[in-house]
Amino acid sequence: MQPNFGFFEEDSLGEVRDAQLWRRLMRYAAPHALGIALAIALSLTVIGAGLALPYLTRIAIDRYIVGNNLSQAARLAGLSHLAFAFLLLAGLGFAANFLQVTLLEWLGQNIMHRLRQRLFVHLLQQELAFFNATPAGKLVTRLTNDIQNMNEMFTSVVVTLFNDGVQFVAILGILAAMNWRLALLMAALTPLIAANLTIFSRLARDAFRAIRTRLAGLNAFLQESLSGMGLIQHFRREADTLASFQTQNDDYLAKNLRQIRLFSIFVPLVEVLSATAIALIIWYGGGLVLRRELSLGELAAFISYMRLFFRPVREMSEKFSIVQSAMASAERIFQLLDRPPALTGGSLRLPRLLGQVEMRAVDFAYSEKEPVLKGLNLDIRAGETVAIVGPTGAGKSTIVNLIERLYDPHQGLIALDGHPLAEFDLAWLRGEIGLVLQEVLLVPGTLKDNICLGETIPEERLAEVVAKAQLREVAKRLPQGLDTAIGEGGHELSTGQKQLLALARVLLKNPGLLILDEATANIDSLTEALVERAIRATARGRTSILIAHRLSTIRDADRIVVLQEGRLIEEGNYQELIERGGVFARLVERQRLA
Ligand code: ADP
Repeated sequence: MQPNFGFFEEDSLGEVRDAQLWRRLMRYAAPHALGIALAIALSLTVIGAGLALPYLTRIAIDRYIVGNNLSQAARLAGLSHLAFAFLLLAGLGFAANFLQVTLLEWLGQNIMHRLRQRLFVHLLQQELAFFNATPAGKLVTRLTNDIQNMNEMFTSVVVTLFNDGVQFVAILGILAAMNWRLALLMAALTPLIAANLTIFSRLARDAFRAIRTRLAGLNAFLQESLSGMGLIQHFRREADTLASFQTQNDDYLAKNLRQIRLFSIFVPLVEVLSATAIALIIWYGGGLVLRRELSLGELAAFISYMRLFFRPVREMSEKFSIVQSAMASAERIFQLLDRPPALTGGSLRLPRLLGQVEMRAVDFAYSEKEPVLKGLNLDIRAGETVAIVGPTGAGKSTIVNLIERLYDPHQGLIALDGHPLAEFDLAWLRGEIGLVLQEVLLVPGTLKDNICLGETIPEERLAEVVAKAQLREVAKRLPQGLDTAIGEGGHELSTGQKQLLALARVLLKNPGLLILDEATANIDSLTEALVERAIRATARGRTSILIAHRLSTIRDADRIVVLQEGRLIEEGNYQELIERGGVFARLVERQRLA
């Protein structure tokens, strides 16, 4: 019955193949192909400069320090030239490196900016049921942490891995050119390194996945408990909540420590391999030098190259952690992006919505266990004013949510003006319904700004609306009338006054259907009289559904429907229902006593 959100389970991660992921990632990078090419060119410069340095050392030793077929003066001059070239190359490498890092940061930030934007647009299109079923903490993690992880991958991994690969091959080439036997010895170490990397990568992947699962859980838990702090304190659940937080926090710590242990074994292991390689060179290469099969400069260069040879391996293991978490992040981001909205509109737009409502055998539940509406039938004629009453939790607001199509019913049919809801263009439909909720959203600005909401309204029209919504009385008492700044930092409006403002907005928009969820908060009797008058004026000439709490509002309705536990149990006008002496009559009696 409920859509399946199981794909958010962390267990199912890793099933999407890495190659596929890479291809998608590259698609996001594609618009920046030129920048990436430039970054690669810069990094080749860095590599070239880095590899040339040991070669210069070799020439310095063989030709000018050990060699003896040049005069002393020529040797000194040669050495100073070499030293100068050495500095120049190092400087070039430094400059290229700087440019490359800056460029990559810029690229990464831009790619992520685009992705963040797309992800948010996508979220805006998802149906409410999705947000009910997905902890907000998880979605926040997706838009912040996960995107940050991918950013790191773009900036510090993609090009580095390319560099490392090129450098690895280049070094083997140079070594082979200098002395193929010694190079072969070094190449023999490669399988050992590869095995090491493979085992490590398997373990690291699991470790990282475990960490991310725990972090997402922790985020979701925090989000829920922080937003429900009122409930926690009210029901004195602090100890329980803390205990459950501690369990999750401990678990997160344990998983992090496991990953750190893994790295603290692997990184020194690479060091040992590197030391072994250098020991081999000193032993075998030193022998070659004694037998004059290798020059001293070549031996020195070999040792320097060996250091460079292992640097990519060390780096790969470090970058590996970034790649792992970035892949996991990318996977989740793409899963979210691939989720089609379960509730999409049709294309139907009518010249005007008349607001005739038809609900047939509607079943609905927010979660599978608790049905909210059960076989509900409700008909509202165009132009009629219907009040829905009933105890809290009966499902009154839910009916409004369904008519607005924030949710789809699980069973049954809902139609407006004779057309099933699914046929309507969603934006049009919601635009044709004037909604007045208990919470009224204020925009920064004056009372007038808050009525017009950015539209330019002719003075007479505005005056008419202000009068009908009974806002003239309110404005009169404000220091600058309609031009008084309200809301945050300005004049505070009372609940009742905000309701008048919301009614004014509806009057201005003039939709065919008015849905009003009356504020329950105490309203002073003067404002109450104004609100009643404004409601009457707003409801006139359009279909109106009033979720009513006050007797006066109910009395005026053409019809009253009484809802209890998701079922319609009584229906009629005020007089009829009072005479029947049923649930409604008792409700009224209780309110009168209160
Ligand atoms: P009323 O407006 O009559 O007070 P509602 O329609 O708001 O009742 O709620 C009906 C039932 O649905 C209640 O049990 C409420 O707890 C539940 N409910 C309302 N909104 C949600 C939601 N977003 N997710 C889960 N349950 C909800």
